[in-house]
Amino acid sequence: MALVSTKEILDKAMRSGYGVGAYNVNNMEQIQAIMLAAKDTQSPVIIQASRGALKYSSFIYLSYLMKAAIIDNPDIPIAMHLDHGNSLQSVIEAINLGFSSVMIDGSLLEDGKTPSTYDYNVKVTREVVDYAHKRNISVEAEIGTLGGVEDGVGSHSGKAKLTDPNEAKRFVCETGVDSLAISIGTSHGAYKFQGESKLAFDVLQDVRSLINIPIVLHGSSSVPKCLVDKVNQYGGKLSGATGVPMESIQKAIQFGVSKINVDTDGRLAMTASIRKFFAEHPEKFDPRDYLSVARADLAKLISYKMKDFKTAGHSND
Ligand SMILES: [Zn+2]
Repeated sequence: MALVSTKEILDKAMRSGYGVGAYNVNNMEQIQAIMLAAKDTQSPVIIQASRGALKYSSFIYLSYLMKAAIIDNPDIPIAMHLDHGNSLQSVIEAINLGFSSVMIDGSLLEDGKTPSTYDYNVKVTREVVDYAHKRNISVEAEIGTLGGVEDGVGSHSGKAKLTDPNEAKRFVCETGVDSLAISIGTSHGAYKFQGESKLAFDVLQDVRSLINIPIVLHGSSSVPKCLVDKVNQYGGKLSGATGVPMESIQKAIQFGVSKINVDTDGRLAMTASIRKFFAEHPEKFDPRDYLSVARADLAKLISYKMKDFKTAGHSND
């Protein structure tokens, strides 16, 4: 079985200086696309489900689709990761479903919207670490607050609070987490920036010099203009959608980021494909016709990312 923890994947990535994408999934076609790309590029991979995605699939369906990916790809290291757990209870649910890794986002209260206090974050993260480590499950936590909202998760003010490097150091020490998501200016969703994106590389460098566990970037889709244009060309209405340019992500990887969360780009790729398909084939109505095109296009996008993040070729590390 190729199921591993994110700690196993990310510790290797951190030592060797490459990034690993964590791709959000909701259904079979997305999971198959990611696995096609991982096989094609020989990459270790993190497939992650948000609480919203688990709920959408009645919990059990998505977890078994992820397990099917593991059985189908015995040579690829795969982590099943819970994205933005909001309480010990949500983490326990994921672990019971067979997840090998969980995130507890104590930077927000349980509502997933209200920024919390440092002490709250430490308390809830420590509870999760105690529970998960006894079961060999790795834990990601977050310090600082990201801008933007995705899947109902995000500070309701929409305002970001950059990570304080010294607080990050203290937090890692006080909680024993395995990886840490930080806020350096990335943002959830498809509308990340007004104008150009600016990442706080100085904050990243300071955090990197103070902690010795893998660093995670959320909200790191690039929102490629070609995909936004394709959606709009075939009847979509996305105006002003912007992301983090790949060059910035690559620079962040060089400065010590190991896990890069990608959700929006996958959504855009599938939507663009399906819109184009229907525009060109209005007579078609078999879901397999348009979903297979969307799956193939998503696999291509993820393959590019695996090469750009330098994950490619590391499945046997
Ligand atoms: Zn996130």
